[in-house]
Amino acid sequence: MRQHELIIIGAGPIGLAAAIEAKRAGLDFVVLEAGALCQSLIEYPIGMRFYSPADELAIGGYPFPTPHDEKPSREMALNYYRKVASAENLPVRTYERVERIERRSDSFLLHTARLPHGTPTWYEARCVLVCTGIWGKERRLTVEGATLPHVLTRYDEPIRFWRKRVLIVGSGNSAGEAAIRLADSDARVWLAVEPPTLEQCKFRPFILREILLRVEEGRITPLTETHILRILPECADLRCAQGVESLPVDFVLTLIGLEPDPTLLAPLGVPFGADGKPQHDPETYETVIPGLFVGGALSQDGFIYVARERVRQAIASVRERVRAE
Ligand SMILES: Cc1cc2nc3c(=O)[nH]c(=O)nc-3n(C[C@H](O)[C@H](O)[C@H](O)COP(=O)(O)OP(=O)(O)OC[C@H]3O[C@@H](n4cnc5c(N)ncnc54)[C@H](O)[C@@H]3O)c2cc1C
Repeated sequence: MRQHELIIIGAGPIGLAAAIEAKRAGLDFVVLEAGALCQSLIEYPIGMRFYSPADELAIGGYPFPTPHDEKPSREMALNYYRKVASAENLPVRTYERVERIERRSDSFLLHTARLPHGTPTWYEARCVLVCTGIWGKERRLTVEGATLPHVLTRYDEPIRFWRKRVLIVGSGNSAGEAAIRLADSDARVWLAVEPPTLEQCKFRPFILREILLRVEEGRITPLTETHILRILPECADLRCAQGVESLPVDFVLTLIGLEPDPTLLAPLGVPFGADGKPQHDPETYETVIPGLFVGGALSQDGFIYVARERVRQAIASVRERVRAE
C-alpha cells in the first residue's frame, strides 16, 4: 500500500479548497468523499439560495459569476464546485466513506467502505485533514415521538408539503427559510420558536421581514416561547405563550441545528469543546494528535470565505510537517 503525504476527508467546498492548496503545494494526496462531489450541498433544500454573494463562496481563485450578480442557488454552487474540481483534475474518490482512522507510529491507516457494496478498502497517509463538515448530523428533539416517520430533520422539495399541516420547530435561519418556502408552496405552517417574539430569534433581517409578511397574511402562524411536549401520529402537544395545546399536524419539521459527528475523531482521543467541535491549534489547525488536522465547518469556521483562507494555513502546516521529516 502506497503511503500518501496527505489524505483529505470530505469533498465539500472546503475539502476542495484544501485539495487545490495541497496540489499547489506539491503534496501527494487524495480526497476521500463518502457521497458524491459536494454531497453536503446536494442535500441542501432544492432551489435554496446562499446568503453570501458568489465571490464569498468561490475557491482556488476561480471566479464564480452569477446572472445579475444574484446570490447563488444550491444548483449554481454545485455547478461551480464541479467545474472547479474538474478544471483542477483533483484526485477525489467519491462514494468512499472513511469508517475509521487508525493511528500508527508515524502515519495513519484509513479504513474505508466503498459504495455500492461497502467494499472495505485501506489508505495510508502521513497526515490527515478532516473536512467532514457538520451537515448530516442534525440535532433531534428529545421528546416522545421525535423519531416518528412524519418528524423530519430536513426537506428537499417544498411542494411535498402542499396543503399539508406542518409544524416547523426552530429559531434560526434554516427554520425561518423553511417556513417561508413551505408557506409559498401552500402548506399550512406553524412556526414554533423558543424566544418570546420572532424579532428575538436568530433570523437574518430579510428572512424576518419575509416571515412577518406571511404572518400578516395568515400564511404562517407563529408560536412563541414554545416547548414541544410530545409528538403523536396525528398531533403535536406543546406548551407556548398561547397556552398548552394539541396541534393537529401532518408533518413536524425540526430544524434546530447541526452538530459534528465525533465518530472519526473521538476514538483517537481528540477532545471536543463545549460547542461540540474538535479542539485544535488555532494557528496550525492540528489536533492534539500530531499529523491530524481539521478544517472547514468542522473546525468552527462556518462561513466559506473564512474557512477557505484558514484551510490554507492548515495545508501550510501539513507541508511543513511533511517536509521537516
Ligand atoms: C442551508 C445552508 C445554507 C448555508 N449558507 C451559507 C452561506 O450563505 N454562506 C456561507 O459561507 N456558508 C453557508 N453555509 C455553510 C456552508 O455551506 C458550510 O460552511 C460549508 O459547506 C462547509 O464546507 P465543508 O467542506 O467544511 O463541509 P461540508 O460542505 O459539510 O462537506 C463535508 C463533506 O464531507 C463528507 N463526509 C462526511 N463524513 C465523511 C466520511 N466519514 N468519509 C468521507 N467523507 C465524509 C460529506 O459527505 C460532505 O460532502 C450554509 C449551510 C447550510 C446548511
